[in-house]
Amino acid sequence: MYDYVIVGAGSAGCVLASRLSEDPDVQVLLLEAGPPDVNENIHVPLGYLQLGRTEVDWDYCSAAEPECHGRRIPLPRGKVLGGTSSINAMVYIRGNHRDYDDWGVPGWSWADLMPYFLKAEDNERGASRWHGAGGPLPVSEERSHNIISRAFVEAGVQAGLTRNEDFNGEHQDGVGLYQVTQRGGMRASTAVAYLHPAMERPNLTVMP
Ligand SMILES: Cc1cc2nc3c(=O)[nH]c(=O)nc-3n(C[C@H](O)[C@H](O)[C@H](O)COP(=O)(O)OP(=O)(O)OC[C@H]3O[C@@H](n4cnc5c(N)ncnc54)[C@H](O)[C@@H]3O)c2cc1C
Repeated sequence: MYDYVIVGAGSAGCVLASRLSEDPDVQVLLLEAGPPDVNENIHVPLGYLQLGRTEVDWDYCSAAEPECHGRRIPLPRGKVLGGTSSINAMVYIRGNHRDYDDWGVPGWSWADLMPYFLKAEDNERGASRWHGAGGPLPVSEERSHNIISRAFVEAGVQAGLTRNEDFNGEHQDGVGLYQVTQRGGMRASTAVAYLHPAMERPNLTVMP
């Protein structure tokens, strides 16, 4: 008997399972259609390029696209513990505040959500008005900037774009290097950040 049954151990499901099972008095079941996240290409950031069309991808395709000469375009979605957070590109950029505010849903405005973004985050830049530290989700600078990436940013600045050192700061526009959900050179999926630390709890059952 379970108090909560969560279907899908993706970005959202792993967080839910972890947070709900903090209460030892509730029984939580997490169901996932895919396997455990043991494929090493999940955890080595550059390996994500090797994950499409494998056992950890639902392997969806678009319909034949007339504007693309009839090609069917691959639409990867994670099918594994961590879900799409185990196969995505790890860029850490929150939605624009106007997106949330335009929803017009009580409790989901930018001001409502910001405390939760901060609570989730463990940013290696430390805590500030815009960032949290000590939360479950590691956010880091990229460790290996390609010389072309730096040249691209400088070219953007020369062309008149604003240099932006933090796309989660006061302004989102401009050109700069983004932060990533990684720590120690490894991917921080929600399975890594939230689920694995909780899996020893006797009140949490995970069925990949
Ligand atoms: C290639 C790629 C790159 C991306 N890059 C970025 C990025 O850099 N930064 C960023 O912020 N976002 C990125 N995203 C988007 C982001 O990863 C997704 O928006 C997010 O992970 C979705 O989370 P979710 O919880 O809604 O779904 P998912 O994480 O997809 O979780 C759904 C889970 O449910 C499982 N499931 C589905 N049906 C069933 C069923 N019937 N029974 C059991 N389990 C089931 C799935 O297998 C999956 O594990 C990227 C996405 C892709 C595809």
